[in-house]
Amino acid sequence: MAAVKLSKDIVRSFVNSFDTFLFDCDGVLWAGSKIINRAIETVNYLKESGKQIFYVTNNSTKTRSQYLEKLTKLGFNAEENEIATSGYLVASYLQSINFKQTAYLIGSKGFAEELENHGIKHTQIGPDVMTIEMQYYVNGKIEMEEDVGAVVIGFDEYLSYPKILKAANHLANPDCLFLASNADETFPMEIPLVVPGTGVMVRAVETASLRTAKVFGKPSVAMFEAISKKCKIDPKRTLMIGDRCNTDISFGKNCQLTTLLVLTGVTSLKQLEQYKNNEQPLLIPDFYTDSLGDLLDLLEQ
Ligand SMILES: [Mg+2]
Repeated sequence: MAAVKLSKDIVRSFVNSFDTFLFDCDGVLWAGSKIINRAIETVNYLKESGKQIFYVTNNSTKTRSQYLEKLTKLGFNAEENEIATSGYLVASYLQSINFKQTAYLIGSKGFAEELENHGIKHTQIGPDVMTIEMQYYVNGKIEMEEDVGAVVIGFDEYLSYPKILKAANHLANPDCLFLASNADETFPMEIPLVVPGTGVMVRAVETASLRTAKVFGKPSVAMFEAISKKCKIDPKRTLMIGDRCNTDISFGKNCQLTTLLVLTGVTSLKQLEQYKNNEQPLLIPDFYTDSLGDLLDLLEQ
């Protein structure tokens, strides 16, 4: 099975075989607050060489313009139309279907802003906590928001029982849409700490509502469809670079792209070996390397 380690001998023809590079961000360009060594130089070098660049992130906690600000501040030569976030995809989708009702939002400030940028009304974000005992809460008058036509889920550090309960009850209406930015289990961290991700929030509401969310982030092809609508992209000459096999690499495979795994984020070499042993082809990248900066290091050797 594939997963070829990038080497000096193949790197030049490897880079030449692509016109478009898709970068996951967290775990590829940075991990937590730490910038991956030479990641900035590598991306800028590819762009200066005339390659088409896209940043494709499942993170919905920032708007596209906030992402641009972050990338620019760090030194990436980026433009807003090169950025696709899962929150942006959900907001664009609701706009494209002319959604006029209110979205019940389990999400962050950045996601809320992205919805507003697309003219989508949403419920309030922030804490919604139990103030009385459960039996009184569920038998009392729960203040349900009105005119909700969609439940929208992104990362929400204030996820709570009342939020899950309200979302599930809105979803009892079969006409209510159920959309999620992504289903990532955890966040990549530079320290060994399990930090639960949006998938936890999606699963909680799915379980209570007995419904399945339409997920826009990777590995769904929605992200590729969105960027290929705007620019001409040949999947055969496109490389997807990511740190997580069950999102980034599966996404690349689902879109018929070539895939490169970097080992600076979620998936470890040990895990990759397990995927190979279990013969899980959707999780096995075509190529892998320790870190994104290797691309430039190997080209310079
Ligand atoms: Mg990542």
